[in-house]
Amino acid sequence: MNTPLVDSHCHLDLYADYERVFAAARNSAAEFLAVTTTPLAWEQNRQLAAGSANIQVGLGLHPQLVGQPVADVAAFARAIEASRFVGEVGLDAGPRHYKTFNEQRTVFAEILRLCARFPGKVLSIHCVRAFKEIFALLDEHWSPPCGTLIFHWFSGTCADARRATERGCFFSINPLMANKDSAHRLLVEIPLDRLLTETDGPFTENVSQAPRQPGDVQSALELIASAKDLS
Ligand code: MN
Repeated sequence: MNTPLVDSHCHLDLYADYERVFAAARNSAAEFLAVTTTPLAWEQNRQLAAGSANIQVGLGLHPQLVGQPVADVAAFARAIEASRFVGEVGLDAGPRHYKTFNEQRTVFAEILRLCARFPGKVLSIHCVRAFKEIFALLDEHWSPPCGTLIFHWFSGTCADARRATERGCFFSINPLMANKDSAHRLLVEIPLDRLLTETDGPFTENVSQAPRQPGDVQSALELIASAKDLS
């Protein structure tokens, strides 16, 4: 039996032709974690993915949306028990989102507390320029570990990666990470059994500069294989 390809972080609902994208995912041999950016989108994605064993939908509240009405923490809290998968959640201290950073921290702390009430959750985490703060929140609200944490599109240092590895975290890798000099060093640093593949589609492009399609993780696999000296 062939092992299926796994797209651990994609936004099936954010493609312009999302109905076709959902249908293609349903009929594909790959496995998908369809992350969402708001609790309302989670509900809609669940309907679109209904009956598809190869599509899991993550309950999301994207840090870049914190402060907007769609970033509805009460709706997230109501839905959390019903969703084993959670994401996209996290912290973004990049220049465009720094103004809401304090609020993001409050929201992400609440998300961790809610997830910790139902052990076994799998979280897909966005973290930009905020590793110190995210580790502090994990110390406070995720100790002892009560689920699986996946850093998506990891942009931290090798020291951050070591810290995350020691905490048992996973990392989902997409081919755009290859554009950074540090990506190879990170991939050497992180143990092979902690590496997952993702597209983050439609936010990454393929070689023809079109949005990468969900499940198109071949080049992420090649990136990992080259760092680990594997075929
Ligand atoms: Mn994403």
